Amino acid sequence: MQPHEPPPAGPPVDPYAPQAGWAQAQDTPAGPYGSAQYPSAPQPYPTGPYPGPYPTPPYGPAPYGGAPVPPAIPPQQQPRGLSPFGMPARHSWEIPLLIVVVMLTVVTFLFAILFAALGTINQYILLFLAAPLLVWLVRGQTFASLRVNGVKMSPTQFPEGYQLVVEAAARFGMKKVPDAYVLLGNGQINAFASGHGFRRFVAVYSDLFEVGGAAREPDALAFIIGHEVGHIAAGHVSYWRQLGMYLVPFLPILGSSLIRAQEYTADNHGFGYRHLGAPTAMGTLAAGKYMNTLVGFDEMADRAATEKGFFVWIVNAMSSHPVLTWRMWALRDRSRHGNMFLRPSRPASAPPAGNYPSSYGLVPTQPPKPVP
Ligand SMILES: [Zn+2]
Repeated sequence: MQPHEPPPAGPPVDPYAPQAGWAQAQDTPAGPYGSAQYPSAPQPYPTGPYPGPYPTPPYGPAPYGGAPVPPAIPPQQQPRGLSPFGMPARHSWEIPLLIVVVMLTVVTFLFAILFAALGTINQYILLFLAAPLLVWLVRGQTFASLRVNGVKMSPTQFPEGYQLVVEAAARFGMKKVPDAYVLLGNGQINAFASGHGFRRFVAVYSDLFEVGGAAREPDALAFIIGHEVGHIAAGHVSYWRQLGMYLVPFLPILGSSLIRAQEYTADNHGFGYRHLGAPTAMGTLAAGKYMNTLVGFDEMADRAATEKGFFVWIVNAMSSHPVLTWRMWALRDRSRHGNMFLRPSRPASAPPAGNYPSSYGLVPTQPPKPVP
């Protein structure tokens, strides 16, 4: 899909190779990129009981330090690519949905050409005949507006953001670091990734960029940048990909579901780059840049299983992003891919929500911070 992005060198030759089942969790911790910390090939995790004491949570002992420790989920039950280690996984629904959408798009193109050849020309047929040109124009225009209006991250301008982009690209084994821009947000919380020609770029709205910085929530910004760079790493923004998905706006539920699977994939990348930022990044999407730390990640994620009904189903099915409660659930429960159509439910073997330590595969969630 991306001839301009050669596959990453190094041990994880094909990060998106079909998974071989639960029993093969050979994820290895990803140390600083290129460091000598993890020079060897991925080592299998030890099987059997958890070998040592639980790691101390990085955010301090209370209230977790004194809580009873639930049994750990055995590491070998984690699907590859959903943990903070190893290469992030593509969501299991993404490729099947992509194949269906691309096939429908190709058939529609062929019908448009057929009708045009038979002399039938209307606006819809023109819309499809002009698709290769339209996609190229929109991409070129998007990139140009960033080049002339965006603040380009560099070692001297928003250096902390620039560093996150460079690190995230290295983490995902990308040969080229994408360009990155800060764009005036005017209150909107948003970020996106796209490309034009061989260039790839991410743009973060200023209101979202503000969540970062040493005094605020640097992990949340890192997660968000990891998510956007992940879209590029996963090939979501190539010209041919976007042309092949030209029919998406005309395919209710099917089209949005493909986009939703891509978002889960990008979240896996954000999680793989900075999993500690997931709760606050989601809190920012839920409550904005000032009240993000007041959102109870567990409390909100828990509602994914309890809010039910047809309208919940349809709102998610028609949504381009997984609804926030489901998305939080997926970022918390790393034992399976995020739910696409049916609301998640807690497996009987899972530990209770909240108050569990930072065991492998589970996001160490933090309680909301008190109002200052
Ligand atoms: Zn996204």
